[in-house]
Amino acid sequence: MRAFKPHLRGLAPYPYASLEAPVKLDQNESPFDLPPPLKEEALRRMARLPWNRYPEIHAEGLRKRLSALLGWPEEGVVLAPGSNLLILALALAAEEVLDLSPSFPHYAHAARAAGTPYRAVPLLEGFGLPLEALLEAFTGGVFFLPNPHAPTGTLFPEEALKALAERAEEVGGLLVVDEAYREFSGTDFRALLGASPHVAFLRTFSKAFSLGGIRAGYLLAHPEVAQAVREVLPPFVLPAHTGAVLEVVLENPGYAEEVAAYVRAERERVYRRLLEHPTWRPYPSHTNFLLVRTPDAEEAFRHLLRQGVLVRRQDRYPMLQGCLRVTVGLREEMEAFLRAAFEVAYA
Ligand code: PMP
Repeated sequence: MRAFKPHLRGLAPYPYASLEAPVKLDQNESPFDLPPPLKEEALRRMARLPWNRYPEIHAEGLRKRLSALLGWPEEGVVLAPGSNLLILALALAAEEVLDLSPSFPHYAHAARAAGTPYRAVPLLEGFGLPLEALLEAFTGGVFFLPNPHAPTGTLFPEEALKALAERAEEVGGLLVVDEAYREFSGTDFRALLGASPHVAFLRTFSKAFSLGGIRAGYLLAHPEVAQAVREVLPPFVLPAHTGAVLEVVLENPGYAEEVAAYVRAERERVYRRLLEHPTWRPYPSHTNFLLVRTPDAEEAFRHLLRQGVLVRRQDRYPMLQGCLRVTVGLREEMEAFLRAAFEVAYA
């Protein structure tokens, strides 16, 4: 077969095994669906749409709304069905992709699929940002930095991000701060964005906004950067239905704060309980998940699954030997997880 580029032959599939379990804590989703009145209103708006017509070419109306809400020029906003697609567009456009290891696996996957040169800098032991090594390695291209970081849950300090933004400016690269989990950290690093055209922010509606299945994310960037990304994406990329849901959500964003407040409180409760575990060790988290070190990831994962609790293994990275990632779910789901976790301790 000679239809596809040779570099795709060895491409490993995206590391996700879809398994079924009564308690699903493996995808960092919101445990709550959209509040029913908002869902009903979104359905009404979908029904009023002419389904035979294409949506706006670059979601102009929604970009205007986001722009007004965030105080950022609409020319600097790119909307897409999921920030994953924006990551792919950025990886396609990039001269080179720089990443951390471990990090969100889609950065590496997108770079490899795009055939873009790719390098990763290892995190420091204890999950600190390897600032010196990064300043040296960042010589251009696009650097994807999730903050808070996935899969460790760490929040990197603003000072370090500032240094990386300055480096991006110096080398003509682009620092992409992926804020998928920002609502769970209670931080606001937006000042960095205005300071330099070499910094962009990625955000998603999949987490605190409870819209993982609807697929929506956006990029905030300098208008020239945003224009380049829009050009890489296909036209009419944001489905009209997704647009209808986003309209409703942007008119009623308050529920996302409630989701985030619940998740933060529940995360801290489960974290404190896990501190009492004789062999498992939770890491502090600024996200909607907890990274937990166990003596044996395979054994712990299987045990939890037998008890009906599905989590995500993270031990393919040597630094994360024994680690599982557990999404913060409903209170009763977290109780099921804790029961199973403590059973392992006393088995
Ligand atoms: N960035 C990070 C760091 C993520 O963890 C995720 C999803 N787990 C995404 C982006 C993807 O978000 P979306 O659903 O908007 O594609």
